[in-house]
Amino acid sequence: MIADSIIHALRNALGKGNFPLHEPYFAGNEQRYVQECIASTYVSSVGAYVERFEKELAAYTGARRAVAVVNGTAALQVALQLAGVHANDEVIVPALTFVATANAVQYLGAVPHFADSEEATLGLDPLALREWLKIIAERAGDAYRNRQTGRRLRALVPMHTFGHPCDLEGLLAVSHDYRLALVEDAAESLGSRYQGQHTGTFGLLGTLSFNGNKIITTGGGGAILTNDERLADHAKHLTTTAKLPHRWDYVHDEVGYNFRMPNLNAALGCAQLEQLPEFLASKRRLFKRYQEALADIDEVRLMEEPSGCKSNYWLQTLVLEESAVEQRVEILKATNDVDLTTRSAWRLMHQLAPYEDCPRAPLQVAESLRSRIINIPSNLSN
Ligand SMILES: *Cc1c(COP(=O)(O)O)cnc(C)c1O
Repeated sequence: MIADSIIHALRNALGKGNFPLHEPYFAGNEQRYVQECIASTYVSSVGAYVERFEKELAAYTGARRAVAVVNGTAALQVALQLAGVHANDEVIVPALTFVATANAVQYLGAVPHFADSEEATLGLDPLALREWLKIIAERAGDAYRNRQTGRRLRALVPMHTFGHPCDLEGLLAVSHDYRLALVEDAAESLGSRYQGQHTGTFGLLGTLSFNGNKIITTGGGGAILTNDERLADHAKHLTTTAKLPHRWDYVHDEVGYNFRMPNLNAALGCAQLEQLPEFLASKRRLFKRYQEALADIDEVRLMEEPSGCKSNYWLQTLVLEESAVEQRVEILKATNDVDLTTRSAWRLMHQLAPYEDCPRAPLQVAESLRSRIINIPSNLSN
């Protein structure tokens, strides 16, 4: 039984006990900064920790600017709006992603258009996408339109699955050739680099998430990354109710959002960010242990960082060989039965009720991956 061999291997790597999929880890200045924040009374939408967190995020990722917001989904929604996505545009997103990627498109009244992934990265496949666009895209002035729906193709949203960078070079070329704004959903890939450059900094804008299950957490939170000062200022403005500075009056010059990150959350974030280098080292050590423990099981591949990339190894991932697909449910059940928490990949977006009628490319690889991926315990430790 493959399930038994996998349990044996996971135990070899992890030891005895109960292993969740991923829990937050607080071993630094969290208490101190949060208490300082409370003592200051600046717990809400203004405060020094928000500015500090934004500065430190920008410095860490190499983005010119970072704008902290209330969660990763809101970050994506605002980034897409700033990238020029309007109602009734189409936005190309992976079918294999967390639902937030599609939701952010939908919130703007635009339509997600699902594209296929590649085996090596689990992310969007630029070659398959180019083939698909050759068939469906037609030139309309400066832009391209989906000839099947008549809608403008506006943006492309790659996502770095479980922290593994996708083929950014290939996707940048597609976005250039088809006049698509590139907005990276880097919610899962803080600390991951593509050819040395931090993910989320390749497109016009990129977004991060600091939800409780991500590599660092602010409780709930997100950020928008960009190298464009004007877009960053606009992101800040839009996410802080679009209020113009005034000593006593309330003047709002567009429809803004209350999407800012509270100072309390930013305090937690500052403490977490200090530990990110250690977290990355811990994730990589766990990967090495799994690699050794799983080496003899032919039916599974342990997801490894794509060549030229540094992954944060946020969620460790098994990809079953085709021959073992039938055993996936059994493996999920058997591991969870013995306190080794495992999960399947997300349902593909076009299989979810709100998105079943959306346009989509052929999705063979995503469909195959969905039937073969198992995430295994990925906790941080010292
Ligand atoms: C977590 C996540 C998000 C959204 O982040 P929230 O902070 O939970 O709103 C978006 N996209 C992907 C791929 C994610 O994993």
